[in-house]
Amino acid sequence: MIVNNSLDEIKKRENSFKIIRNIVENKGRDSLFDLTGLSGDFIASDNDLNLLETYVGPAIFEEQLQKEGINHMGGEKILPLNRTSSGILATILSLVNEGETVVHYLAKLPAHPSIPRSCEIVGGNYEEYDVFEKFYIPDNTSLVVITGSTMDHQVIDEDEFKEIINMAHEKNIPVLVDDASGARLRTVIFNQQKACDLGADIVITSTDKLMPGPRGGLMAGKEKYLDQIKVKANQFGLEAQPPSILAMVNGLKNFKQDNLLKSYERKHEFLELLKNNFDMFELTPTGVMVEAKKLALSVNDNDLSDNDVAFIFSMILLKDAGIITIPAVSMPGASPTIRFDLSTNDAFKLDLIDLNQIIIDAFEKLNNVVLDVDKSCEIVFN
Ligand SMILES: *Cc1c(COP(=O)(O)O)cnc(C)c1O
Repeated sequence: MIVNNSLDEIKKRENSFKIIRNIVENKGRDSLFDLTGLSGDFIASDNDLNLLETYVGPAIFEEQLQKEGINHMGGEKILPLNRTSSGILATILSLVNEGETVVHYLAKLPAHPSIPRSCEIVGGNYEEYDVFEKFYIPDNTSLVVITGSTMDHQVIDEDEFKEIINMAHEKNIPVLVDDASGARLRTVIFNQQKACDLGADIVITSTDKLMPGPRGGLMAGKEKYLDQIKVKANQFGLEAQPPSILAMVNGLKNFKQDNLLKSYERKHEFLELLKNNFDMFELTPTGVMVEAKKLALSVNDNDLSDNDVAFIFSMILLKDAGIITIPAVSMPGASPTIRFDLSTNDAFKLDLIDLNQIIIDAFEKLNNVVLDVDKSCEIVFN
């Protein structure tokens, strides 16, 4: 094992940033291809930026965000947060006491780590299910969480979604929806309703996922809950700051469904190409992916963990071809699945035949590197 804990993951991320910096400085931004699907953007005019310097700006952007946010998410009120994880933490701090339970339903495990970690902070119990028939709500539950689309873009069935909201509301328990990517994936690709319109009380989305916004969390929902959560967010500094709020407004205004829909068509063509050499890839709603476990089964026998193999593959893709995938740059505990998201701006600059060849070459290198632990460490950490 070479990546063993959160500190190792942070070291790996620092190394990736060094590689990215080198590529930008020596070859230019055009030699990098961000296929994470959460590349986001920071759209701001000079006029916007001038306003930021005064006290007027925040007042204006927060007001605009109420309008754009409700348009995107539904609900009665909007609360901008530093990250989706911050919004999840603020919600659990507000609504869950020591000894109470949070139950979580998602299409497929694993859950985003911010949910169990937040429960741990308040001393709450945490239960999770990815089999609908087994899901149930214990007596001392104070919050039901539903993930609309998982880190690996597994999307919930809309009937199950509605049914779980009903089950929670029958017991007067509020429902938090982690719709980080789901607020766009579910609605645009799967034609599902907005989570607020399905009756969810609190919904949060990531403003850099599948839309041109900054990293941040956009919360929507019922005013009585959002007011309570806002108090906690402000007490602990979890709220979004004015520059992010400005970029959230512009990200929402510039969100177009077209890229998502186009990637939906292109991914089939790409999977067919990959199938000439590999059987480990699967479709996602907007691209293809390979799970760490399947990748590890496809390479030579070695002494590394499945996650290590995924990290090495991600680092090779970055170093050799400037392809950015999540495992190279992710926060500790994020999914090690390698996703090639075809809905990002950079993806449209890549020819699929070239991308296929890059993956073939990177895999060949991976297959050799995994036999050598020292070499593997070197690739991940320096
Ligand atoms: C990305 C993601 C999060 C966390 O978003 P951050 O901006 O990293 O806090 C939470 N839940 C799911 C399902 C996600 O995909």
